[in-house]
Amino acid sequence: MKKLTVPGKKGRKLIERDRAVISQSYPRPYDFVMDHGLGSEVWDVDGNRFLDLCAGIGVCQTGHNHPKVVEAIKHQLDRFIHISSDFFHPIWIEFSERLASIAPFDEPAKVFLANSGTEAVEAAIKLARHHTGRNQFIGFYGGFHGRTLGSLSFTARKPVYRDGFFPMMSGVAHVPFPDPYRPVLNLTHEDYGETIVEFIESVILKNLIPPDNCAAILVEPIQGEGGYIVPPDGFFPALRRLCDKYGILLIADEIQSGVGRTGKWWAIEHWNTEPDIVCTAKGIASGLPLGGIVSRASVMDWPEGAHANTFGGNPIACTAGLATLELIESEMMQNAKEMGEYTLDALAEIQVRHPSIGQVRGKGLMIGIDFVKDHDTRKPASDLRDRIAELAFEYGVLTLGCGDSAIRLSPPLNITKSLMDEGLEILETAISEAEAEGFD
Ligand code: PLP
Repeated sequence: MKKLTVPGKKGRKLIERDRAVISQSYPRPYDFVMDHGLGSEVWDVDGNRFLDLCAGIGVCQTGHNHPKVVEAIKHQLDRFIHISSDFFHPIWIEFSERLASIAPFDEPAKVFLANSGTEAVEAAIKLARHHTGRNQFIGFYGGFHGRTLGSLSFTARKPVYRDGFFPMMSGVAHVPFPDPYRPVLNLTHEDYGETIVEFIESVILKNLIPPDNCAAILVEPIQGEGGYIVPPDGFFPALRRLCDKYGILLIADEIQSGVGRTGKWWAIEHWNTEPDIVCTAKGIASGLPLGGIVSRASVMDWPEGAHANTFGGNPIACTAGLATLELIESEMMQNAKEMGEYTLDALAEIQVRHPSIGQVRGKGLMIGIDFVKDHDTRKPASDLRDRIAELAFEYGVLTLGCGDSAIRLSPPLNITKSLMDEGLEILETAISEAEAEGFD
């Protein structure tokens, strides 16, 4: 297997210009400089071809530049690009109707649209406060919900995200996410998820937040940045019961896990649990900036003027969103499910050959490979993980890390078996090489 010369000459020059003018606060794991993409493949400015096993950051749900998405965007471009959100237009309405029709609750839904994940979370926080008249919240360690000051007050993944930005929104208490691979609480129930819910009730709601002033619990159904962590089966049903008992809203942040990523529209559907508000963004418009919340209509009861924005319902983003949902439903959801199962099986085989792989986990095409220093302590092998991502890049595969020591796979939902096979072969080569180099 041959290594690419990356970045090449053109790439290096562009990176130099980037460093001079663009905020260097963006984390860049390696130096990929995009030129163009198609499906699950991308090319850099020096002509090198890569497999994109992360689809942006789980964004290019229908692959890069799907012809139907491009056609929909071009069609709308010829009609109009913007009209004030003070007015009405059909694409905004049609897209919202479509989104409402796939809401994961058995009740009419209403939609508020914004431009990003963090704005979706801000809208959910405000709606929860407004609807309940309460002003405290519960979030989870390892959670990532965005970087504006409201969503950041829930984000609890790395100190660097928060350090230097206080004060942010007050009234958020954090609890451990139920990570069955690295639990931090002693089991009080057979199911670790139920243990966490009991902790919320018996510790947080007893010592910190009066239940009648807890507006909502904000949770990622599968933690994304936190490590692609799948909670135990008892967690969401128990969390729903707790919310019902105290009139607390359940907000599912499906920004990374939603829109078909796990083989269902929303990851929380794997546990037959109905949230009250769903946050969406990332993959919803195949790469155009679009985010929003889908809420029970009975919860979205704020009055005119209470929340709005300039770009809400952007027609180009909505038309891309509509094409995305159609493609996922008609062609890609089943592929996400089947390719997800296929990939998990293939990775289980790879794991047998590589003791550094502690756990392979995920649902659909949201898959994490966790590297450990040894199987007993499960201590994260962060340096090894970083080196594997770097080597995979040099061999022509884009992956991203998540958690302390996992590599995430979140490819386009229409990735083919032959491209996935190619990607996994390269990934295994990278794992072998990093192990041989002595990284841990
Ligand atoms: N919520 C989750 C679960 C995310 O993964 C992210 C981004 O990674 C966000 C919120 C924030 O989205 P954005 O970067 O679009 O603001």
